[in-house]
Amino acid sequence: MRNSHDKELGMNRDITRRDFLNGVALAVGAAMVPSPLLAKFQGQGDDYPPARTGLRGSHAGSFETMHSVRDGNFWESAGKPVDTGETYDLVVVGGGISGLAAAHFFRKVAGPDARILILDNHDDFGGHAKRNEFRVNSRMVLGYGGTYSIESPAPYSPVAKSVINELGIDVSSYPKYVAKDLYRSMGLAPNIFFDKETFGADKLVVNPAPLGTGESQQSAVEDKAWKQFLAEAPLSEQGKRDYERLHQESKDYLPGLSSDEKKARLARMSYARFLTELVGVNEEVTRVLQAGPQPLFGLGIDAVAAQDAWGLKYPGFRGMNLDPTPGPGMNRDAIPNEEAEKYFFHFPDGNATIARLLVRRLIPAAIPGSTAIDIVSARADYSRLDRSSSPVRIRLNSTAVRVKHQGDPTASEEVEVTYANGGKVYTVRGARCVLACWHVVIPYICEELPEKQKQALASAAKVPLLYTNVALRNWKAFQKLGVQAVYAPGSYHSRFNLDLPVSMGDYECPEKPGDPIVVHMMKTPCKPGLPARDQHRTGRTELFTTTFETMERNIRDQLARTLGPGGFDPAKDITAITVNRWPHGYAYEYNSLWDPFWLEGGESPCEIARKTYGRISIANADAGAYAYTDEAINQAWRAVQEISRN
Ligand SMILES: Cc1cc2nc3c(=O)[nH]c(=O)nc-3n(C[C@H](O)[C@H](O)[C@H](O)COP(=O)(O)OP(=O)(O)OC[C@H]3O[C@@H](n4cnc5c(N)ncnc54)[C@H](O)[C@@H]3O)c2cc1C
Repeated sequence: MRNSHDKELGMNRDITRRDFLNGVALAVGAAMVPSPLLAKFQGQGDDYPPARTGLRGSHAGSFETMHSVRDGNFWESAGKPVDTGETYDLVVVGGGISGLAAAHFFRKVAGPDARILILDNHDDFGGHAKRNEFRVNSRMVLGYGGTYSIESPAPYSPVAKSVINELGIDVSSYPKYVAKDLYRSMGLAPNIFFDKETFGADKLVVNPAPLGTGESQQSAVEDKAWKQFLAEAPLSEQGKRDYERLHQESKDYLPGLSSDEKKARLARMSYARFLTELVGVNEEVTRVLQAGPQPLFGLGIDAVAAQDAWGLKYPGFRGMNLDPTPGPGMNRDAIPNEEAEKYFFHFPDGNATIARLLVRRLIPAAIPGSTAIDIVSARADYSRLDRSSSPVRIRLNSTAVRVKHQGDPTASEEVEVTYANGGKVYTVRGARCVLACWHVVIPYICEELPEKQKQALASAAKVPLLYTNVALRNWKAFQKLGVQAVYAPGSYHSRFNLDLPVSMGDYECPEKPGDPIVVHMMKTPCKPGLPARDQHRTGRTELFTTTFETMERNIRDQLARTLGPGGFDPAKDITAITVNRWPHGYAYEYNSLWDPFWLEGGESPCEIARKTYGRISIANADAGAYAYTDEAINQAWRAVQEISRN
């Protein structure tokens, strides 16, 4: 049965994809894997990292070394490090936006000739800001493998804005590049896919009130959408009544309490509890809404505070008479800010363009061109990233395994950094070091840090996610079904959509349904019912142990079941799949349900974690417990200022 179904899905099709080891953890550390073999593990399709397909993000070959350091068996087989003899003014661990920004800021302090080495364990730079490039019928189609856009719940700081400006990005010019009304003019709308395993029937239904867009309005379009939804959704009569009531009722579910008292209660209960215990909706309604907050927090409504749901304009609060000022303990993502909402810019490859612009500043020969627009279609020359003739070097496939001062940290003038690359272990030295890597990694590679700081670093368990890009020959099925985005609370990926239609310079986005396109899919492997950090830990293990073959089958099956009625054929229409696996994804953000200090006051772990130690300072978005590009930049700036005082 499986074989014939697999054939219908196209599992036998020769798309560039199924990676050599299916991306499951290698039994041996990557430090022991020689370079040519390592190249085979890193996804397939091209010598050019952005064009590699299959299992990307934390690709096979990028994480095994660090896992063996964590497990305490790395040094058994590592051999004696080779001294490269290289010395730098600054060594940066981590080539994401924070690490690249740290190099950028350091050159302002130390001058353009400062010698800087950036190490990263991936085969591409940018960290989460990752470019996915496809060719369909010789046309380039771009997707974002991680960081989607310039956006942040709070306004960008002057420092972060200055970097954006210096890179030549004019955020206010964004409307020039986006065909804002394209999908709407074709009648495409957000839909919900009800799957038979969760809701008893496979059914695609228009979504009358996508979460987070505010309470239901009484416009004619919405009226029609509601009618259609209530007629077609595979929910019981009670479920439908409750769903509609939740969106339209204006009732105070905590009568007799002041606004502050209500907020204090809402901060301590999950949105799921608010819905079932206070609003009194039936269980089908919570099942529909369960995956709603996943794109922000990697968690469902069981683990997100009701007060945050109110801030995010989820339904149910219309009659609660809550004072609009944010309540104590609100997650920063849930605090609305008009100025921040206006500061938005989406490149076709997301914020990978910011990473590429930073790299072009640091190593001009690596990427041709001169503007923030011409870079969108420019091809980077990876062979130029690590040349001795350049003051700044980026060394990929290089995992830092030990960072330590030479001698007494309070008096030392040098930091020795040991890294693994292509089956060997090397040392370099730097007058300073910025650790712009994930905080959970740091206690393992920098053992000399104080115990309290290491504990704070270790608590920054990141949010696991899959960002999947599927290249299609065309998007006629979307047009036929009138669908632009699908929310699928019970499916493998909880949502997928056509990307914003953005054309820049030579790059033209797909505007006709017959054009090739990239469909973006998102999954967060959370485990409802567990505390937030445990959900993330369990989800991380799931991502590291699921084969690409399983993911591919789920992707094909989901797209076929959702879009099949519109003529979609997964065997014919899919030309490539890139699953960006991020077991260590968003920085963990504090919230009132799981972090008492956030509600009641006290030093946050990230403040303890990011303290500078001798000649080593600490950056990364984790250092601000805030999963946004501006924070990666802010923390890089702070780390460089602190390290430059020594
Ligand atoms: C899927 C996804 C979508 C996102 N979307 C957005 C968005 O739309 N807008 C937004 O503002 N933010 C978004 N973010 C948040 C994003 O993480 C930040 O914007 C920012 O890119 C983080 O940069 P960073 O340099 O701090 O961390 P990272 O990008 O994680 O870079 C750190 C780098 O250090 C490397 N590293 C770790 N350990 C070692 C080691 N031992 N040796 C060498 N290198 C090491 C890591 O592999 C990584 O490459 C998103 C994040 C994810 C995961």
